[in-house]
Amino acid sequence: MATLKPTTAISRPTEVLFGEGRIASTGELLDRLDARSVVLVADPAAYEQSGASRVLEPILADRDVRLFTEFSPNPKDTEIAAGAALLVRRPPDVLLAVGGGSALDTAKLLSVCATQKRDPREVILGTAAIDRPGLRVIAVPTTAGTGAEATHFAVVYVDGVKCSPAHPSLLPAAAIVDPKLTWSMPPPLTASSGLDALCQAVESFWAVGATAESQEYAREALRLALEHLEPAVNHPSPASRAGMAWAAHLAGRAINISKTTASHAISYALTSKYGLPHGMAVAVTLGPLLVLNSQVGEHDCVDPRGATHVRAALDELLRLFDCRTPSEARERITRLLQAVGCPTSPSEGGVRSAEERQEITSSVNVERLGNNPRRLNTQMIESLLENAGID
Ligand SMILES: [Zn+2]
Repeated sequence: MATLKPTTAISRPTEVLFGEGRIASTGELLDRLDARSVVLVADPAAYEQSGASRVLEPILADRDVRLFTEFSPNPKDTEIAAGAALLVRRPPDVLLAVGGGSALDTAKLLSVCATQKRDPREVILGTAAIDRPGLRVIAVPTTAGTGAEATHFAVVYVDGVKCSPAHPSLLPAAAIVDPKLTWSMPPPLTASSGLDALCQAVESFWAVGATAESQEYAREALRLALEHLEPAVNHPSPASRAGMAWAAHLAGRAINISKTTASHAISYALTSKYGLPHGMAVAVTLGPLLVLNSQVGEHDCVDPRGATHVRAALDELLRLFDCRTPSEARERITRLLQAVGCPTSPSEGGVRSAEERQEITSSVNVERLGNNPRRLNTQMIESLLENAGID
């Protein structure tokens, strides 16, 4: 197995251990890293319920281990600053992150904030440069969705406002993707996290930032998610759990290169104002967005490679969905949302009136829409939220 190098601007973690039971290899990995002192950044519930604690406790027993659990489901800059202060006083050899996206993102942010000798808030806001390597992070996801173990960005809230700092140093050094850790996820969490992976794969595929490499990851992620998501939610088996775990990781690698597009940009208000879980908030506009993006022309194409290039990507997406037309693909997405217990439209998710749609539209960060292959105006975003009249 390859030895670990310092994190650089690479497209995936240096080392990825994948497979049922691979978490048992954590000890060997720590030995190879010569890691005697470890800060375990964990979501306590996920740590217990996933079965990670049972395997890791004996492995960590003879090391110097401290636990960091002081972060919210939507981590705040103040929590990162408090954690970083502890790490500055006594830096560990490794940060071991176990949990969903929040635990992984928290560890990634702690890793860079602890070494910069700058105010963590400034690091997070990008007003202070990240010019020193971070502490090494080993990321162990217990959900199959965000792909945060494979990305060089993280989500953090500053004064209630969502921030997405991005830097190569935020990419974990290593990831252990063990599908068994996802076996205890209840159906709604399996659905929302799996939908996040599926949407990230689709959005990555058509993103302005897409490359041949990101499309390779996204293609395989989408193929796996279409095969395994519904069974993983409704009658999970080791095969469907493994399929979704790898789909989520590959989708993470894909967006690590390409970033996401309009459905993600619109989703944040649906989560903060209507309480829709992230994956579901993204998924409710994915089908309509697919139709809208397929109608791209040269006049409203954002991708410098041109409308023909975008339409070719959309055509390939249709083939991956095994559909002939964008409307058919949209219907397939709707059926999948129904099958996994997700609202099939923003209105089913609680967005009913024109005023509500306008309010959400005005809150969408226009800059983030710049990665969508087709330029979207206010009316188009409202039509995505209305989920009607755009065929
Ligand atoms: Zn997402």
